[in-house]
Amino acid sequence: MNLTAILKNKRCFKLVCGAGNEDAVEVEKLVAVYAKAGANYFDLSAREDIVRAAKRGLERVIPKGKPTNYFFNVSVGIAGDPHVRKALITGQKCKACGLCQKVCQQKAILPEGNKYAVIKTRCIGCGACAEVCPVAAISFTTENKDLNLVLPPLVKLGLDSLELHAVTDDEETAYAQWLAMNKIFPGILSLCLDRSHLGDKQLIARIKRFIGSRNDFTTIIQADGAPMSGGDDRCNTTLQALATADIVNKAKLPVWLLISGGTNSKTAKLSRLFEINAQGVAIGSFARKIIRKYIDRSDFLENKKVFNQACKIAKQLVDKSLKYL
Ligand code: SF4
Ligand code: SF4
Repeated sequence: MNLTAILKNKRCFKLVCGAGNEDAVEVEKLVAVYAKAGANYFDLSAREDIVRAAKRGLERVIPKGKPTNYFFNVSVGIAGDPHVRKALITGQKCKACGLCQKVCQQKAILPEGNKYAVIKTRCIGCGACAEVCPVAAISFTTENKDLNLVLPPLVKLGLDSLELHAVTDDEETAYAQWLAMNKIFPGILSLCLDRSHLGDKQLIARIKRFIGSRNDFTTIIQADGAPMSGGDDRCNTTLQALATADIVNKAKLPVWLLISGGTNSKTAKLSRLFEINAQGVAIGSFARKIIRKYIDRSDFLENKKVFNQACKIAKQLVDKSLKYL
């Protein structure tokens, strides 16, 4: 089966390792455990070491040479999109209270001298730290990446899709990035959008413009809700994503639809309840959180008992999601 067939058959479980997750060791572990658990699509940061780590993770559970139904996507985003930003602590302002470290699910904040600092490679830009900082010492930066330099070497490693996170009101910059991606990659492109900058009509107008020159059903619309907010497995974190998906559905466009952003174990069931015709779910924060205590162990990949415990938990999420799509 190719990626199109997986989508057509509504069998798509996308594990979001994190567009900003540049921790190769963690990515290898995540792909290994979720591939074993039945996930078939993996969202990665646009870096060579991360794509290679993901492929190593897959090879740990699927022997080389065997036919596989696993697909890799790399994500890029434009400045301002939360998926590609990094937290930065201003040392002069930091009062070393440690609150940010406590809320960071990525364990991306550590004491440094008598202050705290962010480990950039682990930060996924979720913003939880900035929300609790009592002295507003945390800001965000986005690295400007030239897609013409970054993407071609990654495509050569063997990718199944590229994704643009286009949560912005800067329509023209987003469109220019999208056009560049169209030139670089002839296969499936994914466009991740939410409604934080767009009204319903603007959302559909943007999608129509972006898919205008593309063949039917070669584009995935990733309907985003509240990115990186699904960790607590509550219905309300996923409702925003479902509302976005519903709008896309009703426009009857020739695109595939994935639900993401605040997604968790409730998402697929709610999607069915709301009669949304989605081909898959993309789950990140929640998927990582439920196996966090296992994957943080240094012996995770070698200790079969620990690995299998994590697989069992991950499989429950994958099975439940695919059952209701
Ligand atoms: S809380 Fe989120 S934004 Fe802050 S350092 Fe951790 S991952 Fe990055
Ligand atoms: S929450 Fe703010 S003040 Fe407290 S340690 Fe973090 S950056 Fe420093």
